[in-house]
Amino acid sequence: MASKIPRALRELALATKGFMPPDEGDALFDAASEACRAKPGLPLVEIGTYCGRSTVWLGAAAKKNNSVLFSVDHHFGSEENQRGWPWHDDSLVDAQTQKLNTLPEFLRTLRQSALGDAVVPVVSDSGLFGGQFSTPLAFLFIDGGHGDTPTRRDYQTWTPKIAVGGYLAIHDVFADPKDGGQAPHDFIYRPALDSGLFTQVSAAGSLRVLRRRSADHPSSSSS
Ligand code: SAH
Ligand code: MG
Repeated sequence: MASKIPRALRELALATKGFMPPDEGDALFDAASEACRAKPGLPLVEIGTYCGRSTVWLGAAAKKNNSVLFSVDHHFGSEENQRGWPWHDDSLVDAQTQKLNTLPEFLRTLRQSALGDAVVPVVSDSGLFGGQFSTPLAFLFIDGGHGDTPTRRDYQTWTPKIAVGGYLAIHDVFADPKDGGQAPHDFIYRPALDSGLFTQVSAAGSLRVLRRRSADHPSSSSS
C-alpha cells in the first residue's frame, strides 16, 4: 500500500526555493518509494540539489523506506541560474564572492526537514563524484546542468550504476522545443529508452520515470 509524504515535509518542500512543481514532487516521492521497496538496501542518488526542494520529497521517501539519499551539487548553480538568465535568484548570491551559492539555503532546508539521518549532502561536481562512486543504485534522479555537455555526462557517468530493477527519473523532459530545452530529452531520456535497457513506468509534467530491465535481455519485455 503506497504511503504519502508527511504533510509537514510536503509543506517544507513547497516553501523551499526551487523548480519542482508539487504534483511532480509527489510523483518523485512515489517513484523513489517504489524503488526502495524494489531494491532494499541500495541507495538513491539525486543530481542537482539546488536549495533542497526535490531533496525533501526524495529524502522523505528514503527515510520512510530505511534507505539513504546522496544529493549531489557543487552549489554554484547551472549556467541558467547565473545572472542574466531567467532562472537566476539574486538572493542566492554570496555577498562576499558575488557568486551564486545555494549551499547555505540547502543546509537550512536539511536542518528544518530533520532528514539528516537519511540524506548525505555531496558538495561536488557530479562527474567528479560519479567517477568514484560504485555502489549500485535503487534510484537515480537527474536534474543537474541542463546543457548538452552536462546532460550527456550525467547520462554516461550515472545511468550504468542503476541496478537491474532500479529506477531512473529525469526532470525537464520536453519532447517539443517550444515547451523547453531539449538536452534532457535528447541526451538522457531518448538514449535511455533507445538503449533497450529501460522502460518507462510513469510520467508527470516534465518528469519521466523509467525502470531498468534485465541486463541479459535488453529487448525482452520481462521486468
Ligand atoms: N532539483 C532542484 C533543482 C536543481 S537546479 C529542485 O527541485 O529545485 C540544477 C542544479 O544542478 C543547480 O543547483 C546546479 O548547481 C547543479 N549543477 C549543475 N551542473 C552541475 C555539475 N556539473 N555538478 C553538480 N551539480 C551541478
Ligand atoms: Mg528541474
